Amino acid sequence: MRYQRSSALFQSAQKVIPGGVNSPVRAFKSVGGSPVFVQKAKGAYLYDEDGNQLIDFISSWGPMILGHAFEPILEAVKDRADRGTSYGMPTELETQIAELVVKMVPNIDKVRMVNSGTEACMSSVRLARGYTGREKIIKFAGCYHGHSDAFLIQAGSGATTFGAPNSPGVTQGTAKDTLLAQFNDLESVRLHFEQHPEKIAAIIIEPVAGNMGCIPPRAGFVEGLRKFCDEHQSLLIFDEVMTGFRLANGGAQETLGVKADIMTYGKVLGGGLPVGAFAAREEIMNYLAPEGPIYQAGTLSGNPLAMAAGFAMLTHLNDHEDIFERLKIKTKALADGMIAELEKKGIPYQLNHYGSMLSLHFTEKPVVNFETAVLGNNDRFKQYFHGMLDRGVYLPPSAFESYFLNDALSEEDIASTLLAFEDWLKSL
Ligand SMILES: *Cc1c(COP(=O)(O)O)cnc(C)c1O
Repeated sequence: MRYQRSSALFQSAQKVIPGGVNSPVRAFKSVGGSPVFVQKAKGAYLYDEDGNQLIDFISSWGPMILGHAFEPILEAVKDRADRGTSYGMPTELETQIAELVVKMVPNIDKVRMVNSGTEACMSSVRLARGYTGREKIIKFAGCYHGHSDAFLIQAGSGATTFGAPNSPGVTQGTAKDTLLAQFNDLESVRLHFEQHPEKIAAIIIEPVAGNMGCIPPRAGFVEGLRKFCDEHQSLLIFDEVMTGFRLANGGAQETLGVKADIMTYGKVLGGGLPVGAFAAREEIMNYLAPEGPIYQAGTLSGNPLAMAAGFAMLTHLNDHEDIFERLKIKTKALADGMIAELEKKGIPYQLNHYGSMLSLHFTEKPVVNFETAVLGNNDRFKQYFHGMLDRGVYLPPSAFESYFLNDALSEEDIASTLLAFEDWLKSL
């Protein structure tokens, strides 16, 4: 494959955009080389600026669960755009999408729309603190909840990719209220409750982690968190920005059968436009301004174009719940095929998958938390990423990111991906 034009575009971008990108992981820093610039996308494929067609396994980092340029979403956005793009006043559409979210998601009465997953998580913590009157939160090493200060403590994903788990600019004062625990380790959580009685407002977690690769929770882990929160009158926040409307209409709450107190959403919810949301039962949500005292606002929150895209997305998912099962089958087919090839080759690997999320780590030890995720062989990962890219398959350019399969991927696409994988393994 040729990448001359992408390289030239990256050169120009670096002069006017920090690192040439508007979000760090796009820059290929952990895999080396020059990022691929996209010209357009349709269904399961990306078309880059050099005329290459790539099978896409990142789906815009999750949102494009129905594939790119899905007609009903495009139509909804075009139709809405003709009526103006923002008013700063309420629209009926906002109530319609809120009603649909409340219907699809278990255990919520009200939802507030924001513009990103970062905003959703940041606001959910303010809400938890305001509601409980407590200051501390527990987060898990390797879980990512957006880039707001309180979360940039071993934050997985981009922050991990760049070896800067604690970003400069985050103050000690902020960091001291974030207590760090280990994913899949209830004892590490119990100790915090013991050491900080009646100080912990909430536990925030990716119920199925996706920002240190895909790491499903062990049996009993999330149930254990629920129990701690009940015992200590703390709130359980499920960050479902990645898992919401991806694992099931009811997200991880539904697939794990555990109810959290506050949920955050983003990615799929916006249908490819910038949307986040947080939601809870009425008694909690009523603490928010203008009804309650906890302030939260947004000039473009509930933006009509974004709501139109999100409404079209959720309507489709609500009417076609079989999508989630289909995605799971496709993901399993990909996982099984990759495992068969890896076994033949005999190189160390761990392949985790859950629903339509998957990740491959080149390491001997099971990847169950951040500590084990960082053991992966990154040189091998670089080879793998570029080997697959050369063969027309676009994977996440970091071992700490999950693949997100989409409904537009056909059986043939999975088969060609497996052929590319086999071919790459042979080249080693
Ligand atoms: C992507 C992500 C976020 C942040 O969302 P943005 O829209 O990028 O701000 C938060 N939490 C999780 C679990 C995510 O995957």
